[in-house]
Amino acid sequence: MDRALVAELLDLLPEGRVLTDPGLLGRYEHDEGEWAEFATPLAVVRARTAEEVQTVVRSCRAHGVAVIARGAGTGLSGGANASARSVVVSLEAMNSVVSIDALERLAVVEPGVVNDDLRAACAEFGLWYPPDPASSPWSTLGGNVATNAGGLCCVKYGVTRDYVLGVQVVTGTGELVRLGRMTAKGVVGYDLAGLMVGSEGTLGIITEITVKLRPLQAPRRTIAGYFDSVADAGRAVTAVAGAGLTPSALELIDRQCLLAVDAWKNMGLAVDANAVLLGQIDTVGAEGDSEAQRMRDCFDAAGATWSVVSGDAAEAEALFAARRLAYPAMERLGPVLTEDVCVPKRHIADMLERIEQIAAEHDTVIANIAHAGDGNLHPLLITPRADEPARERAQRAFAAIIDAALAYGGTVTGEHGIGTLKKAGLYQELSPAVIEMHRAVKAALDPDGILNPGKVL
Ligand SMILES: Cc1cc2nc3c(=O)[nH]c(=O)nc-3n(C[C@H](O)[C@H](O)[C@H](O)COP(=O)(O)OP(=O)(O)OC[C@H]3O[C@@H](n4cnc5c(N)ncnc54)[C@H](O)[C@@H]3O)c2cc1C
Repeated sequence: MDRALVAELLDLLPEGRVLTDPGLLGRYEHDEGEWAEFATPLAVVRARTAEEVQTVVRSCRAHGVAVIARGAGTGLSGGANASARSVVVSLEAMNSVVSIDALERLAVVEPGVVNDDLRAACAEFGLWYPPDPASSPWSTLGGNVATNAGGLCCVKYGVTRDYVLGVQVVTGTGELVRLGRMTAKGVVGYDLAGLMVGSEGTLGIITEITVKLRPLQAPRRTIAGYFDSVADAGRAVTAVAGAGLTPSALELIDRQCLLAVDAWKNMGLAVDANAVLLGQIDTVGAEGDSEAQRMRDCFDAAGATWSVVSGDAAEAEALFAARRLAYPAMERLGPVLTEDVCVPKRHIADMLERIEQIAAEHDTVIANIAHAGDGNLHPLLITPRADEPARERAQRAFAAIIDAALAYGGTVTGEHGIGTLKKAGLYQELSPAVIEMHRAVKAALDPDGILNPGKVL
């Protein structure tokens, strides 16, 4: 029966779309969420049009086979991972920026457009697409929308959801629908476009996206602070929010990550601090100077051992590049289990201290990077390769971090999504009645449950 499906897809789709070579299938088995389960799919379809996606969904539905949407595979929760009876639909070849409308300040893109490529295309019109996950050189708009990706500048400019006006989607029955709008405002019916944001390929396969744009960001001032402890850095973040400041980025990177980046890229990073905060202010003129100085004062008052305000774009870019490289740098040291909890700003220092305790209690190495200004922490749990007891300890630490975040009024995932890695957390966080609402929505859009089954719910 499964062979018949693959033969049908080969027959219905243009030549070269359907991959069945085991060597090629291996490249589409899993995302970057190293610890999540995966299997080899029956086939991979590199779709070029929405109609081709419809064909795959209809055939898979008729054969009772799962369909897994995939962008660049940079996800960190196993969301794009294949299962044994599945067909992966790769959207990476649907990578055109369809249009940029400078008057309306919006862009229409295919789902495989890489985030940085959209950013570059918009810049030619003096426009800017703000959501900037640290994976922006690789991750796709389709993946960003399906995970509601956050990023560095989201502390001021909001996450992907804040920029999605409309989507074109293939549902679980193979229907192609347009959701949302092209206008600045609109309130016709339920917000079904919004429902697709963060749905992780379980409600529909996104084949086109309309996003809002802003004018290009003004030049930024960077405020750097060194701290003796991550908790001190956490207190500085709370102080910045308490002072009423709205940085355009406020990132944390700890010593372990800085050392790993330096060992890999030899960037000559100063590492005489246990935690570094990198802030940015993009308010223009004298007001921006004053805000930057106030932010530095917050750092100093929270115990910074060194701090500086810099308008040097090259120096700032080097520091932020180190922050973006932290995750791949840590991956070189061993398998990384990435946390993504988000806590209220008043509890950032408490949560960072608790993570240190959890590391000691479970004898697990935990490094920290964070979109600190949002309270979105990424403890990175690192284990030696092929060390099963260490893996089990890390898994217990992972669960303990989730418990602690919920106890502080936080959420189990700020931006990476549930995939399979955070499913237990979802059931901890949501009430049974809310889980039932999720199931009802899923049944309405994907009645046979073929879209990315086993993910999210
Ligand atoms: C170094 C690194 C840094 C990162 N930094 C950040 C960060 O700062 N912020 C952040 O939010 N994330 C970050 N991530 C995680 C990841 O990059 C994001 O989740 C990103 O949005 C995934 O995009 P992708 O194209 O790789 O999607 P994939 O990993 O391919 O897929 C992600 C999910 O979206 C679904 N999907 C993909 N395309 C579609 C589509 N067209 N229609 C429907 N569903 C679809 C998949 O089924 C899956 O559930 C980082 C990852 C890495 C490796």
